[in-house]
Amino acid sequence: MYVTGLMMQMPLLLSSILEHAERHHGKQEIVSRRTEGDVHRISFADTAARARKLANALTKIGVKPGENVATIAWNGYRHVEIYYAVAGMGAVTHTLNPRYSPQQLIYIINHAKNKTVLFDVTFAPLVKAISAHCPTVERWILLSDENKMPAEPPVANLLNYEALLADASDTYVWPQFDENTACTLCYTSGTTGNPKGVLYSHRSTILHAMAANCPDALGLSRKDTILPVVPMFHVNAWGLPYAALISGSKLVMPGAQLDGASIYQLMEEEKVTIAAGVPTIWLGLLNYVTQNKLSFSTFKRTLVGGAAMPISLIRAYDELGVDVMHGWGMTEMSPLGTVSKLAGDEYKLSKDEQYQLVAKQGRALFGVDMKTVDEALNELPWSGEESGELLVRGHWIVNHYYGDEGEKSFSSDATGKRWFATGDVSKIYPNGMMQITDRSKDVIKSGGEWISSIDLENIAMSHPAVQEAAVIAMPHEKWTERPLLIVVKKPNAEISRDELLKFYEGRIIKMYIPDDVVFVTELPHGATGKIQKSQLREQFKNHVMP
Ligand code: ADP
Repeated sequence: MYVTGLMMQMPLLLSSILEHAERHHGKQEIVSRRTEGDVHRISFADTAARARKLANALTKIGVKPGENVATIAWNGYRHVEIYYAVAGMGAVTHTLNPRYSPQQLIYIINHAKNKTVLFDVTFAPLVKAISAHCPTVERWILLSDENKMPAEPPVANLLNYEALLADASDTYVWPQFDENTACTLCYTSGTTGNPKGVLYSHRSTILHAMAANCPDALGLSRKDTILPVVPMFHVNAWGLPYAALISGSKLVMPGAQLDGASIYQLMEEEKVTIAAGVPTIWLGLLNYVTQNKLSFSTFKRTLVGGAAMPISLIRAYDELGVDVMHGWGMTEMSPLGTVSKLAGDEYKLSKDEQYQLVAKQGRALFGVDMKTVDEALNELPWSGEESGELLVRGHWIVNHYYGDEGEKSFSSDATGKRWFATGDVSKIYPNGMMQITDRSKDVIKSGGEWISSIDLENIAMSHPAVQEAAVIAMPHEKWTERPLLIVVKKPNAEISRDELLKFYEGRIIKMYIPDDVVFVTELPHGATGKIQKSQLREQFKNHVMP
């Protein structure tokens, strides 16, 4: 007979994070670079009060629990207030990625049946372009000061956020409901077909934020100042707006200025200790810092994910005193699944060996399980040799897509456990380190072997003349596919095709070396900062391999 424990049961609700932040870290700050142009400061206590005002204001204009309330906004204090107020009142914050095409945004707004959209002034032209195609939207709210309303509003009956707040009371009692209630909605970037919605729950979001805060992941504390460069429209800024308020860390929000110079200035002025973002952001910042012979005075740790962090960048940041934590995950995983932090003995290895480990995608957080499988879904050994598709399960992993699409991504094992197929190809090593070798659609199938495009890109990027590299598969009569390397050179750097191909010798087995190199001035990046390989495949479909 099982015996029931005699402990309190409190639902894991996002409003409880806000209440905790107000009561226990009330003076801590959110600092934001605003679209109005200035730097704005607000305490956690005042944020909580404004979130209560917002819940009252939204209720007054007719927003109901269960409704999807969309945002098109940069990282800033208003977006944080919306995250907490909307979810706290039992509605769903639906973050729209403004880097999607207008057609994709229209599809998503209609799919999610959004009635309310809150947007930054930067996105007024976008709203103007899409609003006529969004018949479900009844309320468009501009996130700006009352006196900064545009002379020509992008839509009729435009509401002003600050005016709504000014009229609202800050007395509001957050309702208590089931922790499995939905709180946020985020769509995948739709690289394979239409974007699919992932509907997070209060429970999954809090458990994710707590796990992300463990010492072998973000390890945030009251002493930290965190800069989420990763946008709040990209998988909830990887949960950082929750993790920071749980741990009492100062939150610094970069707004729309994500270039190296702006990020560096904000880091130095606000004494940022930890940051998070995709590799392209760190590339931009590194270029700025090295070109201007600068150094970091407080910045010590960064969580990098969304795409593989090249070893060359991990090394460069280490040399600047910044510890890179490489994280892997996806929209469907809230997003964090693994983080590559070294274990005890690994700190005794040479720097080069350490970088090799950090460049892998890391070990699973508690709360996530993972396995690699063959085509018949049999689990592969953790030998570090065989790669297969990576399957995951856990407290913050999608169970169904919103609208019940994509059911083929799910399977049950012999014990009835449900697994989600990530679409990533990976290897797991005996020490528990997982390494993504490719997305299943990007892998290069050559002569019966799978060549990892990530490995080939890493080697190219370790050449001092290479700024960015992408490898795609080209059809080949004899070998099925062969790798083509596409490269952006560093400014003023020179390197020839043959020199670059020679650089691979001794670094990887001969049959993996790309057959050809093309130099371009720029690589196409998608809505979440990833290189758009589908676009490259289209662009180079007529390229003649030697
Ligand atoms: P999408 O909608 O394109 O899937 P996500 O932002 O959810 O957008 O991206 C998830 C994908 O990004 C993963 O499936 C994986 O292929 C890639 N990814 C994320 N983090 C890493 C990493 N650290 N290394 C390599 N690939 C990564």
